[in-house]
Amino acid sequence: MESIALVTGASRGIGRAIALELGQEGRCVCVNYYQHAEAAQEVVRQLQARGCRAMAVQADVADRTAVEHMIHTITDTWGPVDLLVNNAGISLQGLFQDTTDEQWDRILGVNLTGPRNTIQAVLPAMISAKQGCIVNISSIWGLRGASCEVAYACTKAAIVGMTRSLALELAPSGIRVNAVAPGCIETDMVRVLSPETRAMLVEETPLGRLGTPEDIAHAVAFLASEKASFLTGQILTADGGFIG
Ligand code: NAP
Repeated sequence: MESIALVTGASRGIGRAIALELGQEGRCVCVNYYQHAEAAQEVVRQLQARGCRAMAVQADVADRTAVEHMIHTITDTWGPVDLLVNNAGISLQGLFQDTTDEQWDRILGVNLTGPRNTIQAVLPAMISAKQGCIVNISSIWGLRGASCEVAYACTKAAIVGMTRSLALELAPSGIRVNAVAPGCIETDMVRVLSPETRAMLVEETPLGRLGTPEDIAHAVAFLASEKASFLTGQILTADGGFIG
């Protein structure tokens, strides 16, 4: 049976690399995006050029109704999702006391309620099939804490709790739940930082470079693979040694 993978936030950055990697493995790939439709279509074109089945699916992951609609579209077109990668995320820099209600609600909405929405939407089919795999994207900042990124770090720490707890709850249903905690990865999210901050991050990374989106895609592909069939509830840190 063909594997149907959904990668949220796959129009750019890490999600794009994950989608391309999973397609390379022969999975059908659903490329979720929020605002960048053309970028998502380009990922689909690249996958199709490699002989993979791929489609772009728009949804704001924070919007439960939009997510349910997206999952129905995928299920009606190809069948149930058996691999869900919760990658979509936003960051927020600033002092904790300056964080507005709107910023707080939005970052929790996308980074935490988003995975809640997608997981709840795919679970009924995974549970009835008694198989499935979920890989969440956390962050080293969720493990270590980050000055001036309190809201972001909260969401990424919550993803760790969600991953470990769901792994326990879903193991009897044959569903594995793991997470990757990336270090500093060369994407738009890090490109917004000043050259000085980026240089400091490289210096603090023992392997002496920022990670690439492909570094994270390889970790996700491993957790999703048969080689990881006895792994659940794990947080795989892929950070060049940053947090040791
Ligand atoms: P990015 O380059 O900024 O790309 C973000 C992706 O998420 C885009 O495809 C974007 O879609 C999508 N997205 C944003 N809001 C969305 C929403 N509401 N609904 C659906 N999709 C949404 O980010 P990235 O660096 O690749 O980060 C990917 C994940 O890795 C995030 O969860 C991030 O927190 C995590 N992470 C990144 C780093 C890093 O150093 N880069 C480190 C640790 C963890 P559109 O472009 O279509 O709007």
